[in-house]
Amino acid sequence: MYTPPMTNRFHIKGVRILDPVSGADRIGDLFIEHGRMAPIPVDIPADTVAIEAHGLTAVPGFIDLHVHLREPGNEAAETVASGCLAAARGGFTTIIAMPNTHPALDSVEQMRALADRALAANLVHVLPAPCITLGRAGHEVADLAALAGAGAAAFTDDGCTVTNNAVMETALKRAQQLNLPVMDHALDPRLAGHGVMHEGEASRKLGLPGIPSEAETVIVERDIRLAEATGGAVHIQHLSAAGAVDLIRAARKHGTRVTAELTPHHLALTDADVDPAKPDAFKMNPPVRGASDQAALVAGLLDGTISCFATDHAPHTAASKGKGFQGAPFGVVGLETAIGITYTLLVKKGLMSPLDWVARWTVEPARILGRPAPSLSDGAPADLVLLDLSSEWTVRSADFASKSRNTPFEGRRLTGRAVMTLVGGRVVFQLTSQISDLRSQRPETYYGKNVVLMGFMGTGKSTVGKMLAARLGLRFTDMDTLIEKKAGKPIPEIFAEDGEPHFRNMERALTQELSRQSGWVIACGGGVVLNPENIHDYRGSGLVVCLTATPEVIFKRTAKARNRPLLEEENRMKRILDLLEKRKELYALIPHQINTTSLSATQIVDTIVELYKTSQ
Ligand SMILES: [Zn+2]
Repeated sequence: MYTPPMTNRFHIKGVRILDPVSGADRIGDLFIEHGRMAPIPVDIPADTVAIEAHGLTAVPGFIDLHVHLREPGNEAAETVASGCLAAARGGFTTIIAMPNTHPALDSVEQMRALADRALAANLVHVLPAPCITLGRAGHEVADLAALAGAGAAAFTDDGCTVTNNAVMETALKRAQQLNLPVMDHALDPRLAGHGVMHEGEASRKLGLPGIPSEAETVIVERDIRLAEATGGAVHIQHLSAAGAVDLIRAARKHGTRVTAELTPHHLALTDADVDPAKPDAFKMNPPVRGASDQAALVAGLLDGTISCFATDHAPHTAASKGKGFQGAPFGVVGLETAIGITYTLLVKKGLMSPLDWVARWTVEPARILGRPAPSLSDGAPADLVLLDLSSEWTVRSADFASKSRNTPFEGRRLTGRAVMTLVGGRVVFQLTSQISDLRSQRPETYYGKNVVLMGFMGTGKSTVGKMLAARLGLRFTDMDTLIEKKAGKPIPEIFAEDGEPHFRNMERALTQELSRQSGWVIACGGGVVLNPENIHDYRGSGLVVCLTATPEVIFKRTAKARNRPLLEEENRMKRILDLLEKRKELYALIPHQINTTSLSATQIVDTIVELYKTSQ
């Protein structure tokens, strides 16, 4: 199902580094050795794997506080291994496993079984969040000290709230002594009743039973009160209602130890999106609520009331989700779309800075768990992700590593996704051509593949090429200059002294050399098309674009560039027309054509950037 993880030294080159701990947002190199981030050695050892990461962004591995792995009990929906692979594919290196399995995760024995499965999967870190109460029944507090001793990261009865106030109070007191948070699925079952979606205009229109916002706010209010009384830390899972945001904001101002998480689906959707024919996409608990709730959640996120994201990845089989809107279970998957949804709706829209966005997936969830903040500084564990934050991609659930497909985001165009995930210095996921959206024929050149500009002189190859390289984080080179450097003399002299065939041979050899590399914007001499093999080789290494222009424009531009004396003008025009005619069919072999006659350099660059993105 996946390529075995490899352990090695890695030299990640020319990558944008986003590291909230150090506040870094810069282009640079990263080095990984013995599973940790390391300074770049003066002499790079020969067995180092070089990763050309121009145009990509390196971030500390993301943490998901809320994942349902379904094993044991519902392995058809997800297993620990498939969930871990979905996490790696989504850019997560640490996930917190919810306890509502069958049997429930309420004993040291169950904790060991989970740890064994996670070890066997050998992909991402799985931190268990065992039950608050035995069997998640809400009556008797589990042996929290024993569970903590076995590695509990937090306690929760997720799937339901602990309704008995005295039980919740006891749990908070004990967890506080263990220095661990209690996480609550805050929803009063008496108020939620048999509701299947947000109670509001949409539920009334659809004739579906609703879950009122009060079902959440009354429990959030209770939890805040208990946190204040006990001094314990309470974390509200998957916050959904505006009223709850207000309560948490006020409590945090008073220093109450209450935190909250926001899921991508509560960020992206409202009850107006709910399609009653699609319980697999739109039935979740708590439900997505009204537009005013959604606005309050975003405001709460931006002002820090809600400190982090979490997916509430809740896989269900197609069979169980096929029981109609009232009969289907609650939940949607989220691991493999979380980065794209949150980046597209917050960072791309300019609501949140890239560094803040990364912090909400790394530093903030770690803070809630009381664990060290993940970072990319030397010595830190090499849990990191390379993101592509510039290309759009389309969500296709058929590509998910998760065993389940119940996503509300099928077919959505998103910006931002993981292209490589490393845990402890091992590659546990790498985006390759197995993903249907990736059309590159040579996946190894995906990381900063070339852009090759071919065209007659005077079509703007150099000007456009240099701007393009800056935009895409690639390096610019010009074939003619390289040839002149190699020959040690100007091109007219090569032609005069060594003859054109010699020049064409040099051109051919250079083409082969450059097509084996990646990360270049290459401007080609106008005659490179004389050998169609050159076009073919460059096509294999990336995007090839032909720049064209009318003879008059070429005439004007080359006059300016070469500062030719007026006497030569007439002959030059004739020569341009002849050459253009002769090479017409050869230039037509180039897959993408852009007529630059009436376009500005910026417009040309924009067009090529779009081509580059869609050709990924
Ligand atoms: Zn829940």
